[in-house]
Amino acid sequence: MKNPKERMDVMLSRLRKQGFRVTPQRLAILEILSVSEGHPNAEQIYEQVIKDFPTTSLATIYKTINVLKSLGEVLEIGFADMGARYDGAKPYPHPHVICTKCGRIVDPEHIITDDLSLRISEATGYKITRHQLDFYGICPDCQNEE
Ligand SMILES: [Zn+2]
Ligand SMILES: [Zn+2]
Repeated sequence: MKNPKERMDVMLSRLRKQGFRVTPQRLAILEILSVSEGHPNAEQIYEQVIKDFPTTSLATIYKTINVLKSLGEVLEIGFADMGARYDGAKPYPHPHVICTKCGRIVDPEHIITDDLSLRISEATGYKITRHQLDFYGICPDCQNEE
């Protein structure tokens, strides 16, 4: 798995190739997405970005996310009850573990390997284009509060 700095560089160069102007605000969005701590939604990214760039609009967040999504550089995870969440650290389909109390989403690193799609493709002959594998539970922070 790539580190956040490398992910950010990849996203940056792809955006620049598309002629997308990378402003300091958009750079801040990339920085948050490249870490994808907790798999934020657009509003959570917005709240972080306006701390440093108070004039940023939510539309800018959505626009940047949508361009990255169309380039395959951000994974959108959709939930009926919590809307869309984003992962720019790992833009390809992978399993997620979701806290049903606070909505925090993490990647189950090392337990289910990242090459799951590849292995299923090899085993079945299917070309896997997407998959969704979600585990629901209570995160350690929420357990401590109980
Ligand atoms: Zn929680
Ligand atoms: Zn993820």
